[in-house]
Amino acid sequence: MKKSAYIINLRDQQTALQAYDWVVGDDFFAAIEDAQIQYGTVAVALEVERLASASYDLHFSLKGQVTVDCDRCMEPMSQKIEGNATVRVRLGQEDADDGDVITIPEERGTIDLQWPVYEQIALQVPIRHVHPDGECTGETDKALKEFAAQAEEKSPDPRWDALKGVLDKQ
Ligand SMILES: [Zn+2]
Repeated sequence: MKKSAYIINLRDQQTALQAYDWVVGDDFFAAIEDAQIQYGTVAVALEVERLASASYDLHFSLKGQVTVDCDRCMEPMSQKIEGNATVRVRLGQEDADDGDVITIPEERGTIDLQWPVYEQIALQVPIRHVHPDGECTGETDKALKEFAAQAEEKSPDPRWDALKGVLDKQ
């Protein structure tokens, strides 16, 4: 497996605040197994705040766009995202994640942020995400078919008959 490019060392952080910057792209999403987001470009700014008692607050700031499936037509759509999130990490005995706090072994001192970064990006996607009205793939097809059906139902335009007569004589 390729080594994650998102491993940071918390235990050896010398300063009260440490900043990181990444721009994650398609290859980032492709590396996540079963990712709902398969494409995108997101600028990730991270500020690690060292707290008392071997804890750290990871302040994420996320901005970009991702491709997700539309809730209405199930076709891919582009979704803009922008937001902030904070994740708390503490040094402990072994790897654990209770939903509020991520624990990493103090002995190792590092955390791989590949999954947390993905998770925070995914959380920025609105629960309901759909194409703008009328832009769903299915809807466009449906509208065209309805239009065609209506056109056929209408009684033939006499001018067409006249024109047809002209064309037939040629
Ligand atoms: Zn759609």
